[in-house]
Amino acid sequence: MAVFIPKLQEILRRIDGRGYKAYQDIKGVYETGEFLLSIDHVQGDPFASPSRLSVKVPLEESGFPPELYSSKVRRIALQDYLARAFDMGIAAIASGRRGTGRSGLIAIDAGGQEVLERNAVLIEGKWLEARFVVGLPAAGRTVLGHQAEEMLCGELPEIVRRALYYRSHDGKKVQMHVESIEDQEFLRAKLKGKGLVAFIGNGSILPRRSGVDERPLRPGADQVVVPFHSPPDLEVEFHLPNKGLVRGMGIPQGITLIVGGGFHGKSTLLRAIERGVYNHIPGDGRELVVTLPEAVKIRAEDGRFVEKVNISPFIGDLPYSKGTKAFSTENASGSTSQAANIMEALEVGARLLLIDEDTSATNFMIRDERMQELVSKDKEPITPFMDKARQLFHDHGVSTILVMGGSGDYFEIADTVILMEEYHPRHVTRQVREILKALPGRRRPEGGEVFGEIPSRRPLPESFDPSRGSRDVKIDAKGLKAILFGTTAIDLSAVEQLVDLSQTRAIGEAIFYYASNYARRGLSLKEGLDLLMADLDRGGLDILVPYKAGNLARPRVFELAAAINRMRSLKVQ
Ligand code: ADP
Ligand code: MG
Repeated sequence: MAVFIPKLQEILRRIDGRGYKAYQDIKGVYETGEFLLSIDHVQGDPFASPSRLSVKVPLEESGFPPELYSSKVRRIALQDYLARAFDMGIAAIASGRRGTGRSGLIAIDAGGQEVLERNAVLIEGKWLEARFVVGLPAAGRTVLGHQAEEMLCGELPEIVRRALYYRSHDGKKVQMHVESIEDQEFLRAKLKGKGLVAFIGNGSILPRRSGVDERPLRPGADQVVVPFHSPPDLEVEFHLPNKGLVRGMGIPQGITLIVGGGFHGKSTLLRAIERGVYNHIPGDGRELVVTLPEAVKIRAEDGRFVEKVNISPFIGDLPYSKGTKAFSTENASGSTSQAANIMEALEVGARLLLIDEDTSATNFMIRDERMQELVSKDKEPITPFMDKARQLFHDHGVSTILVMGGSGDYFEIADTVILMEEYHPRHVTRQVREILKALPGRRRPEGGEVFGEIPSRRPLPESFDPSRGSRDVKIDAKGLKAILFGTTAIDLSAVEQLVDLSQTRAIGEAIFYYASNYARRGLSLKEGLDLLMADLDRGGLDILVPYKAGNLARPRVFELAAAINRMRSLKVQ
């Protein structure tokens, strides 16, 4: 079922057997009768990054009912569905390796468990566009023109037919995908109105297959999977536009403690809440786990760089009178890094902090009455989080959800306490109040009356130089948790809500965009990033790069700020 693309076929036949550079001749746009094929960038050799191609189908001819993309969230959901369909089409049709290096590769950036705004498939104006990469085939450095013809004129049109036309799909499945995403977005937007910061729907599957596999844990012979079910008096209900009535556990604003014995599912619950800032594909198990969009996971991160952050709410003057109102270090400790992570998140608008004892610095979290007795307050620079969480909520309206199996001192400040027992949540706030009466602590609060100031820093433009050697701009994502920005390596390994490599890539590009457009105007970091996010709302991810790319996914402002804050070249006024 090859398509006749006379001009492309003619070139491929002509350059067959020639040096790889001859492939440059195929750059351009071809009309197939069904779609437009655009060869946007041709790789320099078979081992280089593969060539970038795109196809455009007239939206009307693709046949998708307009209600499937009638709003922004629906459009993003449908685009996501189509990128995944394209990916499955590749798996079914493309024959794979066809020579040296990346020869034979066809790939699209389809995403994982989350449904993110991306630019792999775009519905824009009158067009449905898919962007993908192709490893143009070669034997050594010799063009395999006939193989390229099979790929581009045979396999590719077949993939396009399978993925980009409504008639090839099960209409019910497409609709379910779009409606599920719409429901999740709706639910997230409703949290605030009900005084909630998170919702975990009954029946949700929270555990994942492994630390490196985000798919849901599967029940098996020796594997029990316990679906989530809300305790009766934390249960709330929502009417979703598509799914209708759903019930589940609502976590109210304020300070929520998740307690329980080891291995009883505390961290698993918190991780699901962390990911609840994103929408999930149907079948993920977390389609009804939603969290305030401004939720930020906070952890200790010793060794990180910090530039002039006010950590004084948590850390007073350090030995040898190093002030902490504009604290800088090349090598933060566990507690100073955790304090900096909180203050930086607050600076760009965090409304909910998510903290797990597993990844916290002990001295940042607790200081009990015996230790208060031995080490007086004026000899301990650290004010533990327990003495600041209430002020943070009272003064700034910022809630906290905290996993803490190790210290009952937190009972004093908790509004809500959830006990995990064999993966079942129990609501134990009342019981905790009784324990507090029976066993009153003699711990003295040390946090003062107010939380303290959350300053806005102004990054200096010279912080951001992406040049390297002879290259003007060299920005590279080195895996999910690292970016090379010019000569500056950015370590994101502790940024836990960064979930997709394409977000990482977008962050690298977004830093450059921020530096070019907003860092020079004396704006604060928050002002600059808010403007950048508004630009993304208007122009989409394509504004971030000067060429046509299909491998970007939208990051949140928090992960973007986290990357900037971890640039060792960062200087603020
Ligand atoms: P904790 O933080 O309380 O020590 P974790 O959340 O780390 O416990 O969970 C311990 C183990 O139990 C993990 O391997 C996790 O995958 C598994 N687990 C958690 N929740 C469930 C569940 N609902 N059903 C089955 N296994 C679960
Ligand atoms: Mg744990």
